[in-house]
Amino acid sequence: MMTNHQIVLKDFPEGVPEPGHFAAAKASVPEPGDGEYLSRTLYISLDPYVRGVITGKHMYEDRVTPGDVIIGRTVSQVVTSRHSDFAPGDIVVDANGWQQYAVCNGENVRKLDPAVAPISTAVGILGMPGLTAYAGMTYLAKPRAGETLVVSAAAGPVGTMVGQIGKIHGCRVVGIAGSDEKCAMVTEHLGFDACINYKTQDLREALVAACPDKIDIYFDNVAGDTLAAVMTRLALGARIVLCGMITQYNITGAPPPGPNLAPIVGARAHVHGLVVYDYYDRWDEFERQAAEWFAAGKLNYKEDVAEGLAAAPEAFCRLMRGENFGKALVHVGDPE
Ligand code: NAP
Repeated sequence: MMTNHQIVLKDFPEGVPEPGHFAAAKASVPEPGDGEYLSRTLYISLDPYVRGVITGKHMYEDRVTPGDVIIGRTVSQVVTSRHSDFAPGDIVVDANGWQQYAVCNGENVRKLDPAVAPISTAVGILGMPGLTAYAGMTYLAKPRAGETLVVSAAAGPVGTMVGQIGKIHGCRVVGIAGSDEKCAMVTEHLGFDACINYKTQDLREALVAACPDKIDIYFDNVAGDTLAAVMTRLALGARIVLCGMITQYNITGAPPPGPNLAPIVGARAHVHGLVVYDYYDRWDEFERQAAEWFAAGKLNYKEDVAEGLAAAPEAFCRLMRGENFGKALVHVGDPE
């Protein structure tokens, strides 16, 4: 019988998670039933929302409790199949979680064409984070040429896509990120016009210098003080897309007080809450558009890849400490 190596939750973390909150486990590799396939995990996507699933705060996913395999999207290869739509060898985006093998009934699974882009991007800029950026920009922010766009967590997969889509639309793009290396990457590698290191610069002053015509679009991935600072520099008719609030994900008690809303009134600004699940019916449209941009060399990306399933806990903890540099992934195996 073949062994399925897994990582399970050991204890609920308080505050920022540590590797000791997770444990290695073993099970036998499951057999697919009728209408199911068995796949082998190649890449695990590490995403901030998984922290909310562990806390039991996520809107749609059931809480992970001690002993459960940690959930997560994966790029996998079909090993055996009793599902008419999937054949051995197919590369798919499914949700095996932090384990080597899983069976799946094919629901919410997308087949990949490895010729389009490296397969790991299917959980990064060409996957759920990419769709988040695309949906927020296309349907909520609606950028126009010449406008100023600011995006926080600029070096992560959502932020990198938001900024590059902004450049495609002719915006002046200003990133906000937590290190000089991240700022250099988004300006030099991704073509952002400027980037502010919020850990070493006074954010309010830096925004005045980097956004002389004020801010037409703010794509917020972090909330907290950054949102409050950006709100002091809104242009008339500004749009704010509330996408993520990662500064709060490790807080288990009451959330901190919100920012003062007066600048929203003064700027006649529009505030939009974004939930990517509302746009899953636009996957085909996004995939076509993103593949075209990728082929034209308009999309670059950076990945932060941990090697081997056993590295998943520490890599996830690094993400939750804000230390990842690019899309956080775990490489588990190669396609055959
Ligand atoms: P990501 O940018 O790789 O997220 C991690 C980054 O967040 C860190 O590298 C860090 O970058 C930044 N960060 C800022 N404050 C932090 C703090 N207190 N603790 C930890 N990290 C902090 O991840 P992503 O996948 O692109 O997601 C970006 C945001 O979008 C997240 O908030 C996520 O939850 C959200 N999201 C929302 C939806 C939706 O449907 N609304 C969908 C997908 C993602 P710096 O060093 O630059 O601070």
